[in-house]
Amino acid sequence: MFDFDGTLGMVRAGWMPLMLDMMMETLAELGPDPAALRDEAEEYVARLTGQDTYFQMAAFADHVRRLGGAARSGEEYKAEFMGRLEGWRQERLEGLRSGSIAPDELMIPGSGAILEALTASGVGVYLASGSNHDDIVMESRLLGIHDYFISIHGSAPGQPSKRELLQQLVDSGIPPEEILTFGDGRTEIEETARIGGVAVGVASDEPDCATVDPKKRRWLIDAGAHYIIPNYLEPDLMELVGGSL
Ligand SMILES: [Mg+2]
Repeated sequence: MFDFDGTLGMVRAGWMPLMLDMMMETLAELGPDPAALRDEAEEYVARLTGQDTYFQMAAFADHVRRLGGAARSGEEYKAEFMGRLEGWRQERLEGLRSGSIAPDELMIPGSGAILEALTASGVGVYLASGSNHDDIVMESRLLGIHDYFISIHGSAPGQPSKRELLQQLVDSGIPPEEILTFGDGRTEIEETARIGGVAVGVASDEPDCATVDPKKRRWLIDAGAHYIIPNYLEPDLMELVGGSL
């Protein structure tokens, strides 16, 4: 089972610089040292990552008020940011459609090769994501990986969650120790470890995706990851996958 965002696809990667750029449009005029203000914003943005975006935006509103600026509400800032993020995502998708962006530029390195190798050796591969179901179906098509999956499950009424999909696989008679999950998020790693499967944490240093990001690594190990990889180009990865069959 593969997670989608940050595990295979990077269509939504790079949200943090986008958020900080938006904040700096307001903060830059409120102090003498823009770089220091950006560092300060980055500290609370990073600290509050993983929770609802509202909390980052509420901290931003507090920051603006502390500097004597006229702050909008956390809800308003969140709506503004989500609108920009969506515009940015659409630009990337348009680039994929027109061919100005190659699929490999928006995937963790080696994604296509690992999916090809797994399916060629007869392994059934599933995609499970917390993102909108129709979006990930369309994005996986644009990235050229849609047809590798037996089934794709995003967030939509009637679709199983990651936890439910794993349980369905076990109920269908697959021994838990033969279930292999790749993910960059806490949920899929925890749930895989819980049922007795093998969990591989993808701790990529986006956007380069060349080395392991130490913060992500710690977080994924805490969630129960058995292995950590920066991308799918790891020489030992095929051996691991082969050994788990
Ligand atoms: Mg993810």
